[in-house]
Amino acid sequence: MPPVELAGFTKADLSELAQELGEPGYRGAQIFGAIQRRRVRSFEEITDLPKEFRARLAERAAIATLKIESQYLSTDGTRRYLMKTHDNRPVETVFIPEEHRDTICFSSQSGCPLQCTFCLTAQLGLLRNLTAGEIVEQIIVALNDAYGEGVKPPRGTNLVGMGAGEPFLNFDELMKAIRIMSDPDGLHIVPNRVTVSTAGIAPRIRELATIPDRPHLAISLSAPDDRLRNELMPINKKWPLEELLDACKAFENSLKPDERFTFEYVMLKDINDSDEQARQLANLLNRHALRAKVNLIPHNPAEPLPYQPSSLARVESFRRILESKGVHAYVRKPRGRDILAACGQLAARSSPAAATV
Ligand code: SAH
Repeated sequence: MPPVELAGFTKADLSELAQELGEPGYRGAQIFGAIQRRRVRSFEEITDLPKEFRARLAERAAIATLKIESQYLSTDGTRRYLMKTHDNRPVETVFIPEEHRDTICFSSQSGCPLQCTFCLTAQLGLLRNLTAGEIVEQIIVALNDAYGEGVKPPRGTNLVGMGAGEPFLNFDELMKAIRIMSDPDGLHIVPNRVTVSTAGIAPRIRELATIPDRPHLAISLSAPDDRLRNELMPINKKWPLEELLDACKAFENSLKPDERFTFEYVMLKDINDSDEQARQLANLLNRHALRAKVNLIPHNPAEPLPYQPSSLARVESFRRILESKGVHAYVRKPRGRDILAACGQLAARSSPAAATV
């Protein structure tokens, strides 16, 4: 039986659980505060609960189900955590310090069912969906390691659902985790601080458009036409570009005038990075009247992926063409490449070359 994971419980869920166990409902809020605000990792630490109740809780449920197996520290300060679930599935989380804020990149699945040819995670296949509790726990583990258990993060925390897995194939647990993390009595990371990236599950993009308290959206595009996208991202055969961009338009229509969503475009040398392809991409987005911006991500190479990153000059030329056609484009700086923590490098590997902490 999988453990009952309290990190995946809302305050209301916990209050119900307390009452089921014959305790007053306010105990639920106490447990919630301990797990989500004080970020404790064991029942013994919740000393404001009666000892006997803690023992009964521990029989029924667990607070910490993820175990850190190894962690790696990049020369640029990025940290990668390789964890295991209770049933021994790998989960990876990346902590990226930036000048004014921190970003935590979490995984939504163990492995991934999509077969993007430029991404190492694809090689694991789908092991399983992560639960809401396992998603929330990743953030708790990373914050505790970076600042100490229960220490209030000194800077703002942004979350990106850009780790292993396809978040929109685990939509309900993802949205539940985002709801739990937004609670002001807990982690208090509001949806406006969260960006979720999808390879293009069109129906879920439309669904997200109807949800009032929702995270920001990023869509991995990486090709300007169906022929190439079918090859690089086979999910495109199910939801081809026209269908995907129609869903994107529906999403854009639900945004406020000053809000934008993002396209991600992995720059693969000699594959999708020509000037002609930049023009095609700009025309495609303009034809759908999308005002989204494009993040260009230089490919992070990893054995045995058959690609090389585009040169900086190539990326810059591509960016300039997009801009000249009215498409806002930015180049994303790779982080944590040396410890296999960068986009597309998460495959539960150890990275012996880098410092293991
Ligand atoms: N499945 C989701 C979430 C993963 S996000 C998605 O596809 O959006 C990971 C991001 O990293 C995606 O934008 C993906 O296109 C990008 N990526 C994958 N492999 C990469 C690689 N080797 N180098 C650079 N970016 C990569």
